[in-house]
Amino acid sequence: MQINVSQQLKSSIGSRRSYEVSEIINVAGSNSMVQGKIGLTRTDRGILVKGTLHTEVEVTCSRCLTLFSCPLALNIEEEYFPTTDVVNGASLPLPEEPGCFTIDERHILDLTEAMRQYVLLVIPMKPLCRQDCAGLCPSCGHNLNQGPCNCPPQGIEPHSSDLIKLTLANGILVSERKGTE
Ligand SMILES: [Zn+2]
Ligand SMILES: [Zn+2]
Repeated sequence: MQINVSQQLKSSIGSRRSYEVSEIINVAGSNSMVQGKIGLTRTDRGILVKGTLHTEVEVTCSRCLTLFSCPLALNIEEEYFPTTDVVNGASLPLPEEPGCFTIDERHILDLTEAMRQYVLLVIPMKPLCRQDCAGLCPSCGHNLNQGPCNCPPQGIEPHSSDLIKLTLANGILVSERKGTE
C-alpha cells in the first residue's frame, strides 16, 4: 500500500486528502484483504494517517481448535515522517521515536508495515469461533459444537489429576446444567 505524498508535503499544514484502501497484506504467514478509508493530514512534522480499516484473519478457536475467519477493525492513527525534504532534496533528521514510520526519499508513504502491526495488535489472545462455543470433550476430544459425544457424564470417575483439571475447566458448563435441572 504505497501512496505518493510529494504534493501533500508541499501543501500547507492541515491540508487533508482521503484515500480508499483495498490491499492484500501478509500477516503471520497468511494473506488478508484490508479495506477501508483513511485520511491523510499534513502536519508540521509529516503526514498523519488516520482511519478505520477492516480485515479478516484465519485464527484457531481457543476452545474447539477449529480454524475460523475472525473480523478485525484496525483503528489506525500514525504520523509518518519524511526522510527527504520535498523541496530541496536534503536529508531530514528523524524524531527520536523508536520505530516511527517514515516517508522514503521518493516521497512514498508505505502503509503495509503499519497495517501488519495493527493486525497483530488486535488479534484476540483467546479467539472464540462463537461466544457460546461448546469446546471439545475433555475425554475423547469430540467437537461438542457438532453435538454430544458418547462419553459418560463428566466428573463421576476422574482417573487422573489431568481429568480433574479438565472437568474444573469445564466447571461453568457443568454448573449451568445443574442449575437448570
Ligand atoms: Zn470454537
Ligand atoms: Zn467425549
